[in-house]
Amino acid sequence: MSGRRGTAKAPDAATSRALLAWFRASRRELPWRRRRDPYRVWVAEVLLQQTRVDQAVPYFERFVARFPTVRSLARAHEAQILKVWEGAGYYARARNLGAAARDLVRRHRGRLPRTVPELEELPGVGPYIARAVASLAFGAPTVALEANGKRVAARWWMERGDVRTPAIARVLERHLTDLLPEDSPGEFNEALMELGETICLPVSPQCHRCPVSMTCRAHAMLDAPGSIPVRSPRRRKPHLRAAVLVVQSADRFLIQRRGPGGLLAGLYEFPGGKIERGESPEAAARRELEEETGLRVPGRIEPIGIVRHSYSHFSVDLHVYHARLPRIRRVRTDHDRRWASRAEIQRLPLPKATVRILHLLRRTGDQRVRRRTMPPNARI
Ligand code: SF4
Repeated sequence: MSGRRGTAKAPDAATSRALLAWFRASRRELPWRRRRDPYRVWVAEVLLQQTRVDQAVPYFERFVARFPTVRSLARAHEAQILKVWEGAGYYARARNLGAAARDLVRRHRGRLPRTVPELEELPGVGPYIARAVASLAFGAPTVALEANGKRVAARWWMERGDVRTPAIARVLERHLTDLLPEDSPGEFNEALMELGETICLPVSPQCHRCPVSMTCRAHAMLDAPGSIPVRSPRRRKPHLRAAVLVVQSADRFLIQRRGPGGLLAGLYEFPGGKIERGESPEAAARRELEEETGLRVPGRIEPIGIVRHSYSHFSVDLHVYHARLPRIRRVRTDHDRRWASRAEIQRLPLPKATVRILHLLRRTGDQRVRRRTMPPNARI
C-alpha cells in the first residue's frame, strides 16, 4: 500500500447526505423495497444473509407469494417451507423463519416487535437482522452492519484490521452511529449496503463513480483502496467421497428424510453416505443402505454416474448407483422412509444434489429406452 495524496477529510454529515441523495436517485428496484412491510423486510434480510441479491429475488417472490403473512407462515409445515426454500441453501434459515413465525403468533399476535432486543429473541435473528429490521421497518436509530457495510466503512476510515472481528466491527459501528441521520436511519443502512454491492466492490472499488469519494480516506491515501480491508487467504475446502444407492421397485424409489439438526436437516435424499478409507464406492453404497434402512440388495447394482457438489465448507463426489428390486420390501420406518413415485418425490423438499441425482436417473432411463429402441449401430 503506497501513499497517494496524504490524508483526507473524515466522513461527516455531508457524506451521509451525499450517500442518501445518491441512493434515492439510483437505488435498484427490488421486490422487498416496493412495500415496507416488516414481514417482507424480515424475510428479505434472512434470505440476503447468505444469498446474493440477484439470486435472492426469485426466492423472495416465491416465498412471500406462498406465505404472504406471518400467520400463513406459522401455519405451514416445515416440509412446505423447505420446499419453497429449495435451492436457496442454508436451510436452517427457512426452518428458523417457520419457528420464529410461530413464536410471533404466540407472543406478539403475529406482528414483528419493534425493538432490537425483542427481535433478537426470535429464532435465527442475530444482531444484524434485528437491527436491519428495526431500522428499515420501524425507523429505529441503529446501525445495521453486514459484510458490504463493513467493507465500505473500513475504507472510509482506513481501518486496516480484520473487519470480521467484533472489536473492529464495534469501532466501525461507533463511527457510523455519528453519521446516522435521525429521520432515515434505515435508508442510510440500506444505502451503505447498496454502495458496497454496486460501487465499493471487494477487489476493484469503482471510486470514479462513488458519490462519497470526497471523504473516503482509502481513496485519498491509497493507490489501491481495494486492499482494505485486509483479506485472509481462503482455506481450501476439504473434498469428500460418498456413495448413494437409489433403490427402485416398479415406479417407486426408496427415499428418506434427514434427521433434525445438521446440514440439510429435514430434506429428503436417497440412502447413502461417506466412503470409508480403503472401501470401494459400490461397497460403501451397499453398506450405507443396509445400515440406514436394514435393506440388502442382492446381485448387481449399476453405477450411473458421479455428482459433484459443493457446499459452503466442503465439496463432495457422490458415486451414484441404481438397483431394481422385483417387489417393494419392508424397510425401517424411522426418518420418514418411504417408497415414493417420482411425482411424489418432486413434491418433497430436496437438496440440490438429490435433484441432480434425479436428472441423472432420468437421463440413464432415457438412454436405456433409446438403446432398446434404436438399431444396434446407431449413435447415442
Ligand atoms: S471512494 Fe472508492 S473506496 Fe472509497 S467508498 Fe467510494 S468506492 Fe469505496
